[in-house]
Amino acid sequence: MSPLCQLGYGVCDADTLPSGGTTEQVARPHLGNVPYGPFYDCVHPGEVALTFDDGPGIYTDAMVDLLNSFGAKATFFITGINNGKGAIDTTPAWADVIRKMNANGHQIASHTWSHADLSSLTESARRGEMIKLEMALRNILGFFPTYMRPPYSSCDAACEATMSALGYHITYFDLDTDDYNQATPEKIQVAINNFDNAINPSNPATDDFLSIAHDIHQTTAQNLTGHMLQTLKAKGYKAVTVGECLGDPRENWYRAAGPGPSYNSEIVSTTSRSTTSTSQSSTSTTSSTSSTSSSSPSSTSSTSSSSSTSSSSSSSSSSTTSSATTTTSSIATPATTLALPAANL
Ligand SMILES: [Zn+2]
Repeated sequence: MSPLCQLGYGVCDADTLPSGGTTEQVARPHLGNVPYGPFYDCVHPGEVALTFDDGPGIYTDAMVDLLNSFGAKATFFITGINNGKGAIDTTPAWADVIRKMNANGHQIASHTWSHADLSSLTESARRGEMIKLEMALRNILGFFPTYMRPPYSSCDAACEATMSALGYHITYFDLDTDDYNQATPEKIQVAINNFDNAINPSNPATDDFLSIAHDIHQTTAQNLTGHMLQTLKAKGYKAVTVGECLGDPRENWYRAAGPGPSYNSEIVSTTSRSTTSTSQSSTSTTSSTSSTSSSSPSSTSSTSSSSSTSSSSSSSSSSTTSSATTTTSSIATPATTLALPAANL
């Protein structure tokens, strides 16, 4: 899936900016034992991590119900705005299904804001692709993920460095259903066979899998996924999240996102970014205290992923007001300016 238009050229989905402060100031410690770099497979025999990219889409909600009916957990690599679907945090259907995934124990992960090829971007544009999705997920859930998958499996050395700095695990896969190339009723059998050819000869006592599919396709949501769940059940595999199949506790999957500087107002006033950073730095005397306080929720986030569900209801219900609120609090927050290329504004 490609973005509607090329990032940085003209006005397109990718240029849309979520409301509220930037998340860039959130502390990003590397927690746990999972590499903050590329990985391809699970570590627990008998577990299969079903992952779904590019959503949410119109078939996703029913697919979550299907997963739930099997007692299965999955991981959703969410894209913020591509394919003209509208931003996830301002389109109620998308925000609702993302909250539902989280409430039902599925894992939420990043697939970038606009499905950009991260290796092809400048450092600042690449960071923008990650940060903007963080902001949108923060607006929906009150937190954002530590797991990501690069669109097109494209993340070169510079991209890997960016992901490490931003505190992301780079999630690949070792079972490719190729479902997006088989997204018709006639061809989906090929994707089913791809899955079966890996699972059927395997042994749950010794094997594990990390599979990839795409919930935006009707054939994946309504045909392939049911088949995958039945096959795993028959074979004695447990369908779990990526975090679980790596033995990574849930509190490491996310970072709590406190209020930050008003990203919107930075952008509006940022024809020359230096002006903003000067004006912002004048407020940054107070900011050192508040940055400590704003980073403390993220360090307590280890224990608060479930409690942030409760806080997320308040933050999500007040998401329209929260942009106004964060504007106020932004005055006292450090200006870690989110650098976006001028062409992107
Ligand atoms: Zn994708």
